[in-house]
Amino acid sequence: MASQIPLSFPVFNGNENFYTQQAISSGHIATSGQFIDKFESKLSKRLHTHETVALNSGTSALHLGMVLLGIGLGDEVICQSFTFCASANPIVYLGATPIFVDSEKDTWNICPEILEDTILSRISKGKKPKAIVIVHLFGMPAKMKEILEISAKYQIPVLEDAAEAIGSKYQSKECGTFGTIGIFSFNGNKIITAGGGGALISNDMAIIQRAKLLSTQAKEDRPFYHHLEIGYNYKMNNLSAAVGLAQLEQLDFFIKGRRLVNQRYRTLLNDFPGIEFQPESNKSISNYWLTCILVDKEKTGFSNDQLKTALMKKGVESRFLWKPLHMQPVFTMMPYYGGSLAERLFEEGLCLPSSADLTLQAQEMIVEVIHEELSKTFK
Ligand SMILES: *Cc1c(COP(=O)(O)O)cnc(C)c1O
Repeated sequence: MASQIPLSFPVFNGNENFYTQQAISSGHIATSGQFIDKFESKLSKRLHTHETVALNSGTSALHLGMVLLGIGLGDEVICQSFTFCASANPIVYLGATPIFVDSEKDTWNICPEILEDTILSRISKGKKPKAIVIVHLFGMPAKMKEILEISAKYQIPVLEDAAEAIGSKYQSKECGTFGTIGIFSFNGNKIITAGGGGALISNDMAIIQRAKLLSTQAKEDRPFYHHLEIGYNYKMNNLSAAVGLAQLEQLDFFIKGRRLVNQRYRTLLNDFPGIEFQPESNKSISNYWLTCILVDKEKTGFSNDQLKTALMKKGVESRFLWKPLHMQPVFTMMPYYGGSLAERLFEEGLCLPSSADLTLQAQEMIVEVIHEELSKTFK
């Protein structure tokens, strides 16, 4: 049975139908067409300093980004452990090794101190990491100032996985624009969707030119098919771009909606013992793609798991936070640096329904379920 209140549901109130009709009427629904160009230039304009290459997924954007940073066989790449598998999988596609790093409590993203310790440890073992993959989890900006200082000090480029963080800001600057390369995802449940899609951004025109070439099978500009290197079929299609453009036009509206949802949860659960929210500092503005809480079982009397089940019984979908990658069976043989923070976030965390158009009534009902759980435990 589909949940009455899903975790995150797209809102199509804009030009989605109009643009897709136009794309179909034009006859161009594949990897060339006006909506791809429009989508790229609209996103570039929003990011001010950066150019965009529209791709067919966030994962392909990460893979291509790593290719462009020269990552290859036998290299080591540092990656935030507390993230979705797609942040690290492309490291393995390239025959390189992910080195996982724990989170810090202020943003739940990569811990700068442990990051520096990790770099020093890897250098002492004989290999300097080739790149640092950082993530702005659930839309919350990572500690970019500290991370960029470390990146500059050791001359290791940052690949910024902003798949969940389009429109989020750190010190008034758009997430995605801090690293040598940044990526976004427009998958079905992200804050804006293109059905499926991604983007690679950079302010280095050489990188953008190469991303364009490599994402279209490295087909050289000749009258016949001519290839000087191995490329990929990673370009976004015009039909997806039509949906993506319509969604991008509404991004600020969606962020406003999701931030309001977050604010209401905070108000409704204010003073609730043992429930903590993902912190937002005064340097950051999260797009609040998902509102996440931690449930301290000692204080609430119930676990995140019990709460998830109670919500499900009322038709409310919730989801555990990402299981840290160093705990994943496929990655357990990879090096990990840090303590148990990411593990605790996973063990106590829950993502609450966060759609941009979630009503106050629905949120009051969700909070009522939480209160019922509490009263059950103390009966
Ligand atoms: C969704 C996501 C990706 C992958 O994007 P796709 O478009 O689904 O391939 C990568 N990293 C993070 C953190 C994500 O949430």
